[in-house]
Amino acid sequence: MLFVELIRKKRDGHELTREEIQAIVSGYTRNEFPDYQVSAFLMAALIRGLSRAETAALTEAMLHSGQVLDFSFLPGSKVDKHSTGGVGDKTSLILSPVVAAAGVYVPMISGRGLGHTGGTLDKLEAIPGFNVNVSLADFRRIMEKIGCAMIGQTGEIAPADKKLYALRDVTGTVESPYLICASIMSKKLAEGVDGLVLDVKTGSGAFMKERKDSEFLASLMVETGDLVGKKMVALITDMDQPLGRYIGNALEVEECVRIMRGEISGSEDLYELTLELAAWMLILGGRVSTVEEGRKLTADLIHSGKALEKFRQLVEIQGGDARVCDDLGRLPKAHHTEDILSPSDGYIASMNCERVGIAGVVLGGGRFLKEDKVDPAVGIVLHKKVRDEVRKGEPLCTVHYNSQDRFADARPILESAYQFASVRAIAGRPLVHNIIKGKSL
Ligand code: URA
Repeated sequence: MLFVELIRKKRDGHELTREEIQAIVSGYTRNEFPDYQVSAFLMAALIRGLSRAETAALTEAMLHSGQVLDFSFLPGSKVDKHSTGGVGDKTSLILSPVVAAAGVYVPMISGRGLGHTGGTLDKLEAIPGFNVNVSLADFRRIMEKIGCAMIGQTGEIAPADKKLYALRDVTGTVESPYLICASIMSKKLAEGVDGLVLDVKTGSGAFMKERKDSEFLASLMVETGDLVGKKMVALITDMDQPLGRYIGNALEVEECVRIMRGEISGSEDLYELTLELAAWMLILGGRVSTVEEGRKLTADLIHSGKALEKFRQLVEIQGGDARVCDDLGRLPKAHHTEDILSPSDGYIASMNCERVGIAGVVLGGGRFLKEDKVDPAVGIVLHKKVRDEVRKGEPLCTVHYNSQDRFADARPILESAYQFASVRAIAGRPLVHNIIKGKSL
């Protein structure tokens, strides 16, 4: 069939067959179809939507465009967690070691910061020497030796997604839940995991601001994982204010190390979400049978120092300076700090979380262009969050920066991120809005 016929078929709202979708993906990966035809197909798919069968077929075709890892030689379950991205969203740095310390393998392939959201790889690289560019052979070796590894995407994993994502980025076709589902799931399923916990964010700092949109994407991803026999669960979690108190690559590593040392104070929401996500990872991994049991095991592993010990092994085996676990002064530090002060008395009514993330990027903690280098040391430490009482002149947050110009640009963005009220809101938003379980649960 001619490619143009497939475009017409989708344009007119008909369902493509598995074979037709396979032909599009494999042909494009082999450079047999021009970008303009594939762009037209993507736009038709965005406007018309895809059926569940089409979404599953697209995911499978993208998954099999590259290597699918096989960890069956490891004597236990393998699980991972994927977050749709947020501000101060650093749970992976604790989840990977803590779940591995419980005896469940965690082969984690992560991404870099995207837009106003941070990326796990950028955070890990704030640890001096930490290498995320690990070959698949070394990935297997590290998994076998310590039970977890945290690496970047390699060219061998879902190469179709790499090409399609680059095309979507410049053709206005990123914002389709079906295409997002296939993109994320193809990469995650290539990790060869038995189960996947999805942390789908909702709120002002998430890509999907509305809960119903987050839930729709979560259901699509859970159903797609179900179809290929994976254990799946999605938690719809709050991103209407940053998670934890620290935003910025080295600062976020610091907050995670503090939590793994048992220093929870000020980071209660981050600790709480970590317990919840870890519990679900342990359930999917068959290590525990209830959320309560999983939370307790996770808390025990944190407070006994076993999670930090596993993190130390991970940093060491991936070439990083593991002494950061004992001496946070070894992390990169910004040359300057300055407080942003409250303009009035009252309570924090809400925060525009996306603006806080943008301020972090403006300081140099993220990228405006793909080739930008991130500054690991810069960021923001929040002293006030939603529902906190504040007095005029009290610090709302402290900015860590290396460039006066960047600080001057970030300051008004941060100032405008806080909204005030004269009374405290009766209740805050929940940390977990909803849980969507796959068929196996
Ligand atoms: N993240 C991805 O990996 N793919 C998308 O399509 C959107 C976000």
